[in-house]
Amino acid sequence: MSVRVVARIRPLLEKELDKDIIVRPASNDDGNTTTVVKIPNPRNESEEFSFTFNSVYDQPTTQDELFTAEVAPHLKSLFLGLDVTIFAYGVTGTGKTHTMRGGLKLADRGVIPRLLSGVFRRAKKTMKDSNGETSVAVALSYYEIYNDKVYDLLEPVEKRTPSGLPLRAEANGKTVVAGLSERPCQDLKDFEKLYIEANTNRVTAATKLNAHSSRSHAILRVKVMQITGDMIRESTASAIDLAGSEDNRRTENGKERLVESAAINKSLFVLSQCIDAIARGERRIPFRESKMTRILSLGQNNGITIMILNLAPLRSYHLDTLSSLNVSSRAKRI
Ligand code: ADP
Ligand code: MG
Repeated sequence: MSVRVVARIRPLLEKELDKDIIVRPASNDDGNTTTVVKIPNPRNESEEFSFTFNSVYDQPTTQDELFTAEVAPHLKSLFLGLDVTIFAYGVTGTGKTHTMRGGLKLADRGVIPRLLSGVFRRAKKTMKDSNGETSVAVALSYYEIYNDKVYDLLEPVEKRTPSGLPLRAEANGKTVVAGLSERPCQDLKDFEKLYIEANTNRVTAATKLNAHSSRSHAILRVKVMQITGDMIRESTASAIDLAGSEDNRRTENGKERLVESAAINKSLFVLSQCIDAIARGERRIPFRESKMTRILSLGQNNGITIMILNLAPLRSYHLDTLSSLNVSSRAKRI
């Protein structure tokens, strides 16, 4: 079981008026690698707080660089049967969706399309290397957790029931989402079609509820099955675009937003506690305390977890940035 917590600082956007950069990367003590994020104390600007990560990616980092450094090395483990889980955590507007999904241009593609591309490439290689004795099948599930309820994103919004899909404990101790659909996926084209459709469902559902999709966690599950005779080796890669970590109680005070905030705060808190416990090598991981961590069985196998903390470097995000650093830095003692 291993965990990496890395920070990614996004560049300024053209439309942004605030150009006051207050979040800066710094080298670690021996000066070899960039592992520290520095930010002023909002109460006393002559003082600076430092947060340590496994790695820090500054503004110019490309999608390719991030993927190559943090995700690509784990594709091999995935095919050896280990589960790989990648989270994007952070305040709304800091680049979570950019990091996970990315843009349409090839260079702008995020972790998810690159992950799928890597999976299909490796599947081909596995089949070829085994002289056709091993076949590889890939299947996708995609769901969101909104107000602590689970909704299938591969099904049309009209099919949703307000209570969402129930969880079910299996004999092997795993928790599954009952009735969650799973679609076979042959190649990148297949994937893209499903993914675009599902993301449209996500936005439609949010609009119907007069909410925003940044208020839900979106979880993509890529199941890889390697079949040799009657043996099946199964592993899962999960990619999660988390709900925004900002404290909405400060800015929005409608009742619905409060319910949302409570659900988001609770699940992000449990997530950070799980990451923290894994990082410390503790045996007891409080993964049962929230739906998301339960479904992911976070820390219950010898898999790999990568948490990407997205940061905007600007003063206008000061307090929210600080609180997101505080939460994720719980995992810094690695
Ligand atoms: P979030 O999902 O955390 O709310 P987004 O991914 O939507 O944030 O990013 C907010 C805006 O910043 C978007 O317009 C996005 O394209 C842009 N952006 C985020 N990260 C980067 C980056 N690394 N390079 C260029 N633009 C980025
Ligand atoms: Mg987003």
